[in-house]
Amino acid sequence: MSSSSSNPFTNSRGMAHTPNLFCYCGDKMSVRTSWTKANPGRRFLSCPNYGSLKKCNMFHFLDDELPNQYYKDLVYQLHTQNGNDNHVSEHEDTQNELLKIMEDLSITKSKLKVYDRMMMCLVIVVMCLVVVLSIIMA
Ligand SMILES: [Zn+2]
Repeated sequence: MSSSSSNPFTNSRGMAHTPNLFCYCGDKMSVRTSWTKANPGRRFLSCPNYGSLKKCNMFHFLDDELPNQYYKDLVYQLHTQNGNDNHVSEHEDTQNELLKIMEDLSITKSKLKVYDRMMMCLVIVVMCLVVVLSIIMA
């Protein structure tokens, strides 16, 4: 809403300079980029607890709102077309998720190996039984 050029968090070139800002609730605030249709590509400073259980509401837009709907649509479309997200924490989340999946996969693989060995043992035991039985029957 504010169209003032005296945004305390951005310099004249519009670059965010928010080194180690801490929220009053004790957590480090981080710069994120909004990719909603209403505010595409608009950077904001927020508390990691924003909207979470701690109910912190520290939230501050770093960039001024785009002048009109045309620019908003344009930026939003460009973003969805490129498919890459500058959202830092989201990227980290995806990486963490990938790591988790990889971990799960390796666990499953090692389990499968154990099952493989058990199956092999079972097959050998059954074959021995068959041989022993055929000897007894004979
Ligand atoms: Zn907070």
